[in-house]
Amino acid sequence: MRRSGPGARRGQVTRAAPPPRGGDRIPMRHRLSPILFVLSALSLVLIVVVIAACVRGKRTADWLEWHRTDPIGNQWRAVDVVIGKSGIYASWQWFEFDTPGKALEYAQRLSRVSGLAHTMTPPQPNPFADGGSFWNRAGFGYELSGVSEASSSDGTYRFRFDNAHVPYWALILVFSAAGTHSVRTVFARRRRGRRAAAGRCPSCGYDLRATPDRCPECGAFSQPPATTAA
Ligand SMILES: [Zn+2]
Repeated sequence: MRRSGPGARRGQVTRAAPPPRGGDRIPMRHRLSPILFVLSALSLVLIVVVIAACVRGKRTADWLEWHRTDPIGNQWRAVDVVIGKSGIYASWQWFEFDTPGKALEYAQRLSRVSGLAHTMTPPQPNPFADGGSFWNRAGFGYELSGVSEASSSDGTYRFRFDNAHVPYWALILVFSAAGTHSVRTVFARRRRGRRAAAGRCPSCGYDLRATPDRCPECGAFSQPPATTAA
């Protein structure tokens, strides 16, 4: 729909159903998005959780372990998350025995057949701290072992052991950035809503009572233009 005839003035677009005149011409977009609110609240909660883990990890390491032995009893999986001294350490293990039932025996010896477990040990340092690279010194590290084969009294088995470490400072940085971004967006939306309700430009705050269609100060349209004069 293009209406750019001689009668069409710049900034004054004719529409099939023109919105009512007055302050409510400017869309009010200051309703708070629930997702945004949850994200910002979650980020702030996570910062507190990470700080608490950082303090606790200096004295005690908490191991949160999840295990699973398959019904045939030849595969065993474990995921460990450790509240370490300087960061969160996580590992993923997988075992596959040639002989059915051997994984179950192995898991029973460890008392780790299936489900969740929590244990505490002395503080756990970052195992990648001596890795030598810049990222290792900064507290990051990971190791993907690939599948290896070995033999024991349980017979031949294949296994892999992957593990990684993320420092507390990086987690706090990420959650702070996410939280700050969300909080700033919330405040910016509220400000735009206040300005729109007061008949001012949502972008720059200029008084729009004389020019409700487009802000003469910053050029922002109060509503998306259906068409513009060429
Ligand atoms: Zn403006």
